[in-house]
Amino acid sequence: MRITVLSGGVGGANFLKGLLDVVGPEDEVTVIGNTADDIWLFGLRVCPDLDTVMYTLGGGIDVERKWGRTDETWNAKDELTAYGVDNTWFGLGDRDLATHIIRTQLLHEGVALAAITKRLCERWKPGVRLLPMTEDEVETHIGIDGEDGLEVIHFQEYWIRLGAKVPVRQVDFRGAGEAAAGPGVVEAILGADRVILPPSNPIVSIGAILSVPQVATAVRQTDAPVVGVSPIIGGAAVRGMADQLLTGLGVEISAGGVARHHGARKAGGVLDGWLVDTADAGELGAIDDAGIAARAVPLYMADAATTAQLARDTLDLADSLATRG
Ligand code: GDP
Ligand code: CA
Repeated sequence: MRITVLSGGVGGANFLKGLLDVVGPEDEVTVIGNTADDIWLFGLRVCPDLDTVMYTLGGGIDVERKWGRTDETWNAKDELTAYGVDNTWFGLGDRDLATHIIRTQLLHEGVALAAITKRLCERWKPGVRLLPMTEDEVETHIGIDGEDGLEVIHFQEYWIRLGAKVPVRQVDFRGAGEAAAGPGVVEAILGADRVILPPSNPIVSIGAILSVPQVATAVRQTDAPVVGVSPIIGGAAVRGMADQLLTGLGVEISAGGVARHHGARKAGGVLDGWLVDTADAGELGAIDDAGIAARAVPLYMADAATTAQLARDTLDLADSLATRG
């Protein structure tokens, strides 16, 4: 079985851990990672979502914080602060810095991002093939209310420096229109037996990956069933700050609202199936009416067992849609 997963950072990585617990040794999992959160900081290329997937599956993640490296120290950051550098809102730990330094050095040597990611994964052995959605620079920029009208800032500035608390007026995946899918990405989607959208942020993770035209086209065209897991449980983003983003784009903050935002493949969207939480079972009918096969199962990834069960339920839904033909 070839399973291809479109993943953001924490939500996607946690789901992938459960998926790896339930697939067999002959199954192949390919992850199309979001690179639109990437940012240049201090001359270094930082790829937060690729690194979160790599560290989480490779055992290097800080499990409490859920991003960055375990046993991290912050000496470089403290030194920058001592120099009066104000750009320290983005957490760059000492261990994590090594990853960014190697990535940046290889970029300067002319190695492309997919090959660099493969090289980094040789150390972490995440158990999946991790492919950047694109090797072109695509960056999510967020429009907010500034003093003189619309102010556009990098997604990380919005998400981390502003804590995602201010209203979103616009989301722009800058560069996406001209970006090509990364090496192997289109093939991984068209050649998959199953395509999964894990409970990643529907706008800035899944939406960003689908903003690359070749990726969206491949998801629409693949013969594999495409099933997704709602990142919204009981009308709220789990452990999340996605509310302003959804509201800003006119997406209802509900499991069904996100399903309708993605749309049914038979109606030009990207979904065949959608899992909602048992708390949201009342929305099943409306999602089915939108042409998306919906089921209600527990969606909260509390521990390894519940996460593995969620992965099993996702594969079951996909199986039922594959055999339907
Ligand atoms: P990010 O790039 O680190 O923000 O991570 P993702 O985009 O992959 O995932 C973030 C989303 O995961 C959030 O919007 C949450 O709603 C969702 N999420 C986090 N934990 C859970 C969980 O236990 N269950 C479900 N269904 N969604 C979750
Ligand atoms: Ca992210």
